[in-house]
Amino acid sequence: MKGIFTFLVLCCICTFQVHASSDKTCFEVILSALDSLSWGDSSSECNNTAEVTSIYTSAKLYCTETQMTALTSNITNVNPDDLPILDPETEKSNITEPGLLEYSYFKRALRSKNASNDTKPQAKRLGWALMGYWGGIILLGILQNAWKTCFQNRHATPQLDQEQGNSARKASRQIPLLSPVSHFITTHFIIPRPFGRYTQTTFCGILARWEAIVVAGFWIVCILVSCVRYESFTGNTSTPKVSQQVWNSIATRLGILAYHCLPFLWMFAGRNNIFIWATGWSFSTFNVFHRHIARATILLAILHSIAETIRYTVNSSKYEKSLKKNWFVMGIVATVLFSLLIPLSSVWLRKRSYELFLIIHVTFNIVILYSLFIHTSKFDGEFNGYLWPLVAIWAFDRSLRVFRLIYCNLRVHLHKGLTTVSKTTVTYNPSTDVIRIDMQSDGSVLKPGPGQYYFLYQPLRLRGWENHPFTLGHYITPSDASQSRSQTSDSLAEDKQPSQTIVRTSSGPERTTLTFWVRPYDGWTRRLRDECKSQNGSCHPTLLLEGPYGHHEPLHTFDTLVMIAGGTGISAVIPYLQELVAKSGRSRVSRIEVNWVVKQKAFVDELMRGELGELVREPVVRARFWCTTATAEGSGCEKDDREGVVGVGRPSIQEIVSQVVAEEEEGGSGRVGVLVCGPAGMASGTRSAVHEAMRGGCRGISYFEETYGW
Ligand SMILES: Cc1cc2nc3c(=O)[nH]c(=O)nc-3n(C[C@H](O)[C@H](O)[C@H](O)COP(=O)(O)OP(=O)(O)OC[C@H]3O[C@@H](n4cnc5c(N)ncnc54)[C@H](O)[C@@H]3O)c2cc1C
Repeated sequence: MKGIFTFLVLCCICTFQVHASSDKTCFEVILSALDSLSWGDSSSECNNTAEVTSIYTSAKLYCTETQMTALTSNITNVNPDDLPILDPETEKSNITEPGLLEYSYFKRALRSKNASNDTKPQAKRLGWALMGYWGGIILLGILQNAWKTCFQNRHATPQLDQEQGNSARKASRQIPLLSPVSHFITTHFIIPRPFGRYTQTTFCGILARWEAIVVAGFWIVCILVSCVRYESFTGNTSTPKVSQQVWNSIATRLGILAYHCLPFLWMFAGRNNIFIWATGWSFSTFNVFHRHIARATILLAILHSIAETIRYTVNSSKYEKSLKKNWFVMGIVATVLFSLLIPLSSVWLRKRSYELFLIIHVTFNIVILYSLFIHTSKFDGEFNGYLWPLVAIWAFDRSLRVFRLIYCNLRVHLHKGLTTVSKTTVTYNPSTDVIRIDMQSDGSVLKPGPGQYYFLYQPLRLRGWENHPFTLGHYITPSDASQSRSQTSDSLAEDKQPSQTIVRTSSGPERTTLTFWVRPYDGWTRRLRDECKSQNGSCHPTLLLEGPYGHHEPLHTFDTLVMIAGGTGISAVIPYLQELVAKSGRSRVSRIEVNWVVKQKAFVDELMRGELGELVREPVVRARFWCTTATAEGSGCEKDDREGVVGVGRPSIQEIVSQVVAEEEEGGSGRVGVLVCGPAGMASGTRSAVHEAMRGGCRGISYFEETYGW
C-alpha cells in the first residue's frame, strides 16, 4: 500500500512537472520546505508515508486547482483538519506522522522561492532596458539622418542664374530653415561644447553637448537598472540573512547587466560599424560611446566579482573549492583583464604608444571573450546568446577590413599572378615638415571623394600590420586626368569662364591618384620621414590602402561656406573645393571662405603652387592664410592679394564666423556651412563661434567637424 501510494505521488509529481512546469513553484516550495524536516528513520521522502502525505495535503490546500489536477486525479484525499501543523523552523524531532505545512511558513517560502527564481529574469529584463536605450539612440540617429538627407536634397537646388539665385534666397527667407523648436534644440543641446565655455576643448573625449547628453543618459539608465527592485526581506526561508540576499541578487544582476552591454561595446569599436553608415555619425562619436560603455561594463564586472566573492566567502565557504573549477577561475581572469584595460587604454598610453595600446586591447579582448564563454558555460549555453554576436561583429569587421584591403590594392593578373595596384611616391619637405604621399592606382576601382580617409599599411616592414588613418587630401580620377590634359577646368556656380587646370600631378589615362599630407610624429610617420630623408627626400615604399571611410558632408547645399583648417587639416578642405569646382552649375554655393592656419609658410607656398593654387583663384573663393611660426618682419608673410592674404599668428575664429554670418544676414540670410579640420582647440573655438551665431538668432548655419584623433 505504502509503495503504491508513493508510486502514485511520484507519478503525479512527474506528470505535474511535464505538463505544468510553469506552475510547479507552489509544489516545489512545499516539497523543499517539508523535505528539510527530519522524517522518521527513512532516508528519502519516497519511502516515508508521513512526509508524502504531508506534502500532498499541504499542496492540496495551498496550490491552485490547475496546479493540483494531476495530484488530485490519482490520490486518495486526506482531510487537512485531521493533520497537525508542521513548522519547519520549530520542528526538530523525527516526525513519524503526516502533518500540514504551516501556512505563514508556506507563504514566506513561496515568496523566497519566487524572489530567487525571478533574480535572473528580472536582471535580463533590466538588461533589455540598457539595450533598449542604445537601440533608441541609434533609431533616433537613423531617423535624423534620413530627415537630414531629405532636407539636404531640397536645398541642393542649383542657382542657375542670378535671378534664380535671388529667388532661392528669398525662399530661404520666407520658409524658416529650422522650426523654432528644432533651432532651440540644435542651439542648446546639439552644437555647444559639453559644458559650454566651462569646457576648454573636450570633456572625457566628448566634443559636443549632444554626445554628453547621450552618455549621461546611459549612465543614468545604468545606475537605475543596477540599483532598483532588489527583493530582500526578513524571514526568507532559503537565505535568511537580508545582506546575503542582497549580495546574491547584486552578483547575479550586475553580471547579467555587464553581458547586456557587450554587444554595443563591441559594435561601437569597429571600423566597419554599420551604425556609422546608418546614422551618419563619425567613428569618433561611436568611439566616445564605446569608451563609456566599456567603463560601465568594467565597473559592473568588478562589482559582480566583489559580490560573488562575498557570496562565496562571507556567506558560505565555497570559495576555496570553487577555485578549482574552470568557470570560476575564468570569471576572475575576465574581471582582472577588464580592470587592467582601464589604465592600459589611457590617453597617456595611446599618445605614447598607440601600437602597444592596440596590441594589448585586441589580445585582452580575445582572452576575455574566451574566458566569458567558459565562465558562463555552467548555465548550459544560456548566456552564449550574448557572446556569439561579439564573435560575429568582430569577424565581420575584420573580414571587411581584409576585403577593403584586397579591393583597394590587389589584382589577379593572368600572367603576373597577384600584384599590388598602387605605385607610391613619398616626399618629405624639411621646410614644411610635411610628408606628401602620392598613390597611383590602376583603373577606376577607387572612388575617391571629399570627407574620405584611408588607413595606410606598409606591409614589407617588420611591423607590417601597423596601419594609420589619413584624410584624403587631393585626388585625380581618370576622368579628371583627361580634363587635365585638355587644360581646362569647370568653374564654380554661375561663373563659366575657362580657367587653368587645377591639378599639378600628371596621371596616366587609367590611373587614379590619391594624395595625403602627413605631419610626422614619433611612430610610423617618423620612420617614413627618415626613410625619405635617407633617400634624398623621396622614396617609393610599398604602401597599401584600406578604405574609404568617413562621411561626405553636404556642403554643396549651402550658399556660403566657411572652411577653417589647421596644418595638415587642409586635407579635409581641398577635396570639397575640388568637388565644388567639378559641380559647376549644379551647386548653389556662391561664396567660399578658406581660412588656413599653418606653422610654416613654405607649406602654403607648396600647395599654392600645386593643388590649392587654382582652386583658390576661382572667383567665389576667398583664401586667407596665417603662419604661426613666422614674424611679420622679413618672414615672407606679406600681403599677397593674388594668392590670398597671408597673415602672422592665429586668427580670431570667432571674428571670422561672426563676420560672415553678419554679411549673410545683411544680404538675405542664405545658408552658411562651417567646416573645420584642425587641432582640438581650433575645432572647439569654431564650435563656440557657430554656437554664438546660433544663439544670436542665425538659423541657417550648420557646423561640420573633421577630427584627426579619437
Ligand atoms: C580620421 C583621421 C584622419 C587623419 N588624417 C590625417 C592627415 O590627413 N594628416 C595627418 O598628418 N594626420 C592625420 N591623422 C592623424 C594620424 O593618423 C596620426 O598622426 C598618425 O597615425 C600618427 O602615427 P605615428 O605612428 O607616427 O604616431 P605616434 O607618434 O605613435 O602618435 C602620435 C599621435 O597619433 C595617434 N595615433 C597613432 N596611431 C594612430 C592610429 N592608428 N589611429 C589613430 N590615432 C593614432 C596617437 O594616439 C598620438 O596621439 C588622422 C587621424 C584620424 C583619426
